[in-house]
Amino acid sequence: EINLVWFRNDLRAGDNPALFYAAEQGTAIGIYLETEEQRKAHDDAACKIGFINDNVKELRKQLNQLNIPLHSFKVTDYADSVEKLEMLVDQFNAKGVYFNNEYPLNEKNRDNQAEKILEEKGLEVKRFDGDIIIPPNSVATGKGEPYKVFTPYKKAWIEFHKTQGTSPLPIPEKQDFKIDEQHDYDFAQEYRDDLWPAGEQAAKEKLNDFLPKAGYYRERRDIPSVKGTSMLSPYLAVGAISAKQCISSLLEWHEGDEEAFYKDTWLSEIIWREFYRQIIIDNPEISKHKVFKRDAKEVWDGEQELFDLWSQGKTGFPLIDAAMRQLLQTGWMHNRLRMNVAMFLNKLCLIDWRQGEAFFMRHLIDGDFASNNGGWQWCSSTGADGAPYFRIMSPNTQSQRFDPEGKFIRKLVPELESLSDKDIHCPSSEQREKLGYPQPIIDYKEARKRALDLLS
Ligand code: FAD
Repeated sequence: EINLVWFRNDLRAGDNPALFYAAEQGTAIGIYLETEEQRKAHDDAACKIGFINDNVKELRKQLNQLNIPLHSFKVTDYADSVEKLEMLVDQFNAKGVYFNNEYPLNEKNRDNQAEKILEEKGLEVKRFDGDIIIPPNSVATGKGEPYKVFTPYKKAWIEFHKTQGTSPLPIPEKQDFKIDEQHDYDFAQEYRDDLWPAGEQAAKEKLNDFLPKAGYYRERRDIPSVKGTSMLSPYLAVGAISAKQCISSLLEWHEGDEEAFYKDTWLSEIIWREFYRQIIIDNPEISKHKVFKRDAKEVWDGEQELFDLWSQGKTGFPLIDAAMRQLLQTGWMHNRLRMNVAMFLNKLCLIDWRQGEAFFMRHLIDGDFASNNGGWQWCSSTGADGAPYFRIMSPNTQSQRFDPEGKFIRKLVPELESLSDKDIHCPSSEQREKLGYPQPIIDYKEARKRALDLLS
């Protein structure tokens, strides 16, 4: 009995429930459908697409060792991918289609549509939750409502998790099947593969590089000049590694000490990822670009030129420019800086956060709808458990605090290299002129006051 496994953001062989159970029930054949037009509509970055395609290639190698073929095709959009799937089911004479759920609205609609059509054709459709550690809707408040605040969600998450096994699923056993020709397509590889080599193996190596440093995560994670975070986000976004695999290795690193594990700050970040996924599951209107807090003041009437300068890393605020250049050069940005540039754009320049959200998606290798939207709405105080409206990070103070010697700025804004550790955070007007660095595009104090007046 042939079962198709429809891979999407779960490009791994280990801890992949759809793959594991399809192989257990019969002969598994992998399918990957690259939706070119849909990607454009979702603002997916060229670097992310390149990374995904290389991960598909790596996955094929890994699956082939298990005698599982992986056929990949280019299609236009989600409607087209459902049609293609229908054709493939006939072509391979499949009895079942297995896949792991994706939670944003378009993906959910596509999956429901596929399920309906395939079931009408008499196929068995099996869906799993491989992208999230605790299944959707596992926890609710005392009133039976979805959580809107992180801390109680996290508490409930942990209590629920304690009742679940932590072991990820193994890779399936080698199957008895002869692989003929596999469909494939050409693509442009446009991402920093020196920073993020593709594949589950590479993801595991990155995790293993990070774990010995996990004990320092709490103190180092806010310093952008130090590699204090895992940099696993691109792999998690495309599913080259699962969140469950990550935290089960973390528990091993804690030598099974559950108390230390549940207190771990890095685990908390993974739970933020789960929280934002649950938020989009509970609030499908977020996928339609709505604010989470319906009564949030939307006062965004900043000059478009401010957005353009921000997006080029030419704001005249060294930390903000360094951050934006990190994004443009690598496809990734440090979390502390994501918060800084988001608050700068939204609160100090009064640009709609959705413009920043879309710009991030167009450039991030780890672009992930739930986390990106969650992060932007948090910074703009429109989101679930967002920052209070009066929280506005000062670029200069943040720079002095988190990049005290200007190491990060010097690397990304080399025109300021010669300045002293003190001056580099906010060069004088003369220094700027001499070094060819822009004057600040806003007056921080005035902009802050204006934002507070408008938002209070
Ligand atoms: P680590 O610190 O090592 O954390 C481990 C993992 O936990 C991350 O890989 C990520 O999957 C998850 N995680 C960490 N912090 C968060 C968080 N605040 N919210 C949700 N998940 C988190 N993350 C994305 O994966 N994709 C995005 O598109 C994205 N956009 C963001 C936009 C804004 C405005 C903000 C403020 C944050 C955004 N984040 C996004 C969250 C966070 O910045 C990145 O996950 C993190 O910087 C990735 O680096 P890392 O893998 O070294 O993280």
